Amino acid sequence: MVSFVSGAYILSALLFILALAGLSRHETARRGNQLGMAGMTLALVATLLLVLDLLGDDHLDQGPVVVGLVIVLVAGGIGAAIGLRLARRVEMTGMPELIAMMHSFVGLAAVMVGYNTYLEVADLGLRADAVHDGEVFLGVFIGAVTFTGSVVANLKLSARMGSAPLTLPGRHLLNLAILVASALLMVWFMNADGWAALAPLAIMTVLALVLGFHLVAAIGGGDMPVVVSMLNSYSGWAAAAAGFMLSNDLLIITGALVGSSGAILSYLMCRAMNRSFVSVIAGGFGSDGAVSGEARDYGEHREIQADAVAELLAGASSVVITPGYGMAVAQAQYPVAEMTKKLRERGVDVRFGIHPVAGRLPGHMNVLLAEAKVPYDIVLEMDEVNDDLPDTDVVLVIGANDTVNPAAMEEPGSPIAGMPVLEVWKARDVVVFKRSMATGYAGVQNPLFFKENTQMLFGDAKDRVAEIVAALG
Ligand code: NDP
Repeated sequence: MVSFVSGAYILSALLFILALAGLSRHETARRGNQLGMAGMTLALVATLLLVLDLLGDDHLDQGPVVVGLVIVLVAGGIGAAIGLRLARRVEMTGMPELIAMMHSFVGLAAVMVGYNTYLEVADLGLRADAVHDGEVFLGVFIGAVTFTGSVVANLKLSARMGSAPLTLPGRHLLNLAILVASALLMVWFMNADGWAALAPLAIMTVLALVLGFHLVAAIGGGDMPVVVSMLNSYSGWAAAAAGFMLSNDLLIITGALVGSSGAILSYLMCRAMNRSFVSVIAGGFGSDGAVSGEARDYGEHREIQADAVAELLAGASSVVITPGYGMAVAQAQYPVAEMTKKLRERGVDVRFGIHPVAGRLPGHMNVLLAEAKVPYDIVLEMDEVNDDLPDTDVVLVIGANDTVNPAAMEEPGSPIAGMPVLEVWKARDVVVFKRSMATGYAGVQNPLFFKENTQMLFGDAKDRVAEIVAALG
């Protein structure tokens, strides 16, 4: 049985690697997901078989094995039911906060596994070796940081906590002091025996929980994409640490895959946003936390109506559409796809410019546009489209705000300063679809709305685009 389970684990690990490879491109993402699901099913079945195998072992007291099996089945059933319900109910716009919540579960699980393995050893009156002690301490530390960090990310992404950074005086010193104290507690933990080691473990857990909270609370709204992928990476390392504690090879491999792919994604996001990786993981290091621009007087904005936009579009030869989070909220991708089709039939060159952090998830806009069957070849990355914007007749900014904000380039004190943006203001005409003059996710006012070639089309993006489709006939 053990060799069968080992074989199944190796196959699962291969399926996870293939899943990651599939997820790297739109065309293969669906297959990637299916391979990941197959790998996870195989891993669960193999693990269950391992427990069932213990039932036949005469050397073991069968009582605890049966109780353990019942707990695994009942807990698995409840978990699957909750997961299914949540996944069915969640809107695409609610995915990031759901993912953040799931990361927090992985962190919490690593803390619990750490305490469990520690208590098991202490209860038996055994002296654990240094490697085991190290695994427990680090597993609990990473798990606790991941847990509170992900809870704060969930609260920020679901707008139950403000997106402005928490800037305590001396906050970097506080983080450093917690790290140094944790290192000293580790020395104490490794040198204490049995139950006596519980004190340093418990104190470190509280400190790590505070650190996780503080690291993420100190990060402003604009930098949240990096935080989400970073917590993804932490949750992977927390799972790998749990794998070491449980001596489970598959958990180690899976955790390492999630940890390293999350780290690569965080690095790519940092590069896309022109942020230093170290600064973001150190909790907003280098930003003064100021939110500028809101009080500034940028002058008057101009408004336009849907039928006038339809006329503008009908007379254009090149159009670029830059969607953002508002398109996801309004579910405007379907009328946007219809409008694109109509304009292309009239010979207008329509393309999409996608900012790497548009929406609330990496690839959020690409998924929505693929869902509405917009052809992949007209959906371009920001860098591919930026150079063409000065020669573009009309840009339609559909529910995007921070990702088209010139303040990122023009105002050095802005919280989004330095972030590359879609330079839509360079086009001949710009139409911005949104409901009000409210700021975007980073809480920064957008001077684009007040530029001479910009006109605002107020209202729900789905309704307004549908009106344009109707006017185009
Ligand atoms: P923003 O979040 O900056 O702005 C979205 C705009 O959409 C708002 O200004 C809002 O204005 C408008 N809007 C909302 N609902 C509607 C509607 N029904 N109809 C029309 N407009 C609507 O969007 P961007 O995509 O430009 O930027 C993404 C931001 O999110 C960045 O700051 C990014 O850093 C952050 N982020 C991104 C993540 C990612 O992985 N992609 C993860 C976490 C955060 P109004 O209310 O006036 O309608």
